[in-house]
Parts: sequence; C-alpha cells; structure tokens
Amino acid sequence: MTNNLANNLADILARIAAARKAAINPAPATHLVAVSKTVSEEGIRAALAAGQRLFGENRVQEAQAKFPQLKADYPDLELHLIGPLQTNKVKEAAALFDCIQSLDRIRLADALAAERDRSGHAPRLFIQVNTGEEPQKAGVLPSDLDALVAHARALKLPLEGLMCIPPAADDAAPHFAFLLKLARAHGLDHLSMGMSGDFELAVKFGATHVRIGSALFGVRA
Ligand SMILES: *Cc1c(COP(=O)(O)O)cnc(C)c1O
Repeated sequence: MTNNLANNLADILARIAAARKAAINPAPATHLVAVSKTVSEEGIRAALAAGQRLFGENRVQEAQAKFPQLKADYPDLELHLIGPLQTNKVKEAAALFDCIQSLDRIRLADALAAERDRSGHAPRLFIQVNTGEEPQKAGVLPSDLDALVAHARALKLPLEGLMCIPPAADDAAPHFAFLLKLARAHGLDHLSMGMSGDFELAVKFGATHVRIGSALFGVRA
C-alpha cells in the first residue's frame, strides 16, 4: 500500500515535470494538491512519509476529523479547502485551512472578512469560477467575477488565484484557457485546475496547482 502510494506519487510528480517541460508557457511552479477526501488518516500518513505536504479536502467536517493531529505532527503540512463552503462553517474552516479555493460569492467574502477581524484567521483565497455555467455547480459565474474580485480586494482579503472544475462531459482545454485569461485580466498569479484525468493538459495552460486524488490514492469507494 505504502509502496504503491510512493510509486504513484513519484509517477505523478514525473508527469507534472514532463508536462512543464513540454509546455510553451508553464507557470513558474506547479504544486501537487493531494486530494485526500475519503482517504483514511493512515493513507494520508503514507503520503506524508513519501514526502507529500500539500493536501486538499472538500468537506470541512471530514478535514476537521483527520487533520488537526496530522498538522501537529507535520508543522509544514499545508491544507486547502477545495469544496463548497457554507457561511456557518467559516469559523471552523478559517481556523483549519491554509487556503480556501472555493470562494464564490459576496456573502462568503463578507463572512471570511468578519472572521479575520474576529479571530485573526485569514486563509489565502482562490475564487472558484463556474466556467461551464452549470446550474448545479458551485463557483461564481464568469459574468459576476469582476464584482467578486473587487469586493474581496476592498475587504483586503488575501486573494491569490482562481480555481475551476470543468464540466465532466466537456473538453477541458477551453475551460483551462478561459481560466488563465480571467486570471491574467485580474492580475491573479495562481491557477488551480486539472485533476487525475487531465492535469497534464492543465499544466500546459499554466496551472500552478493541480488537484489529484484517485491517481494518487486509488479510486474512491
Ligand atoms: C475530488 C476532487 C478532485 C480530485 O479528483 P480526482 O479525479 O480523483 O483526481 C479535484 N478537485 C476537486 C474539487 C475534487 O472535489
């Protein structure tokens, strides 16, 4: 198990490096976010033993159950929230996560700013953009992005980048290209895009963060 995981990790890192080499305009660095949703604490420890330090979880409660002890044991562990955030979970999320990649509405920006003022916890932020304009999917609509960026900046929130999850049925390339264009237009340096099935393509379009679960930990039950 541990061996498989170490092999998977080495393979993914090699593929990221190769994709960066082949890219015309890669980002200055591409970080692997190991998506550990549904993975046991033991599985996460195996990834830590293999050298991985950056993890992504998509539910606050699940992350709260697994990560406080792991963070105590590995002070350089970095944890990102990659799933939707309810305003009533902002306090817990701001205390646990180093970065929240799913900012997608004004009310959530207000809640994050209020929590920063209250507790001092101010995770770095990415705005999730619903590039496919799917009604059921989280993320701000592209047409509402300008207003959300301006609002976050007016609140002096630490806004660093954009994130997207392209529609499963679509070719991801135009979505990655669109997110890159939006990030440049807003002067944002970080781009979280690409998952197990398409991370090399995302690297080609300048991804700074690829979010990989099943290719690393195995297919989720
Ligand atoms: C689960 C998840 C991933 C990882 O998906 P894989 O296909 O298993 O690599 C990436 N991003 C988000 C937002 C996810 O929820």
